[in-house]
Amino acid sequence: MGQAVIFLGPPGAGKGTQASRLAEELGFKKLSTGDILRDHVARGTPLGERVRPIMERGDLVPDDLILELIREELAERVIFDGFPRTLAQAEALDRLLAETGTRLLGVVLVEVPEEELVRRILKRAELEGRSDDNEETVRRRLEVYREKTEPLVGYYEARGVLKRVDGLGTPDEVYARIRAALGI
Ligand code: AMP
Repeated sequence: MGQAVIFLGPPGAGKGTQASRLAEELGFKKLSTGDILRDHVARGTPLGERVRPIMERGDLVPDDLILELIREELAERVIFDGFPRTLAQAEALDRLLAETGTRLLGVVLVEVPEEELVRRILKRAELEGRSDDNEETVRRRLEVYREKTEPLVGYYEARGVLKRVDGLGTPDEVYARIRAALGI
């Protein structure tokens, strides 16, 4: 039986870093829709050309495109980073997990206050030069998170799979909280 973990949380919460470490240590595949999309943009594929302006504005890429990517990349043991981001994506993922006999081990919600998120993202902009890490886009991405993605907190809470984790502190401290919350 397959196993899956979802990382949920606003941009800048440190999901990507934590998901990478957990995937590496547990032998899971990390599936980051943001990374896959950025790779398409960098390679200038037709998909990349289509999503580039959407990502630069800080808006969400259409659900059907995202779901196609997920179907292509799904693995037996998988950690989702940055997916699902809408209720439609979450419902489609539920169906996909049921179809493939994959058990959801938990949904990790990494919680960080808004001022700290903006500070972290602007720092990442200096280090990585991501084109969507400027102040205006960051505000838009946070707004989109509150509007489209935050409802998933209630969705997963109602299913009893939500694990809230304090995202403040060192990466090691946050990582230890995540392992404890998931019990793995
Ligand atoms: P991330 O690296 O997860 O912050 O994603 C960067 C950008 O990619 C987002 O601002 C969206 O434009 C797009 N994106 C990534 N994942 C998704 C998703 N699951 N649904 C829609 N858009 C996404």
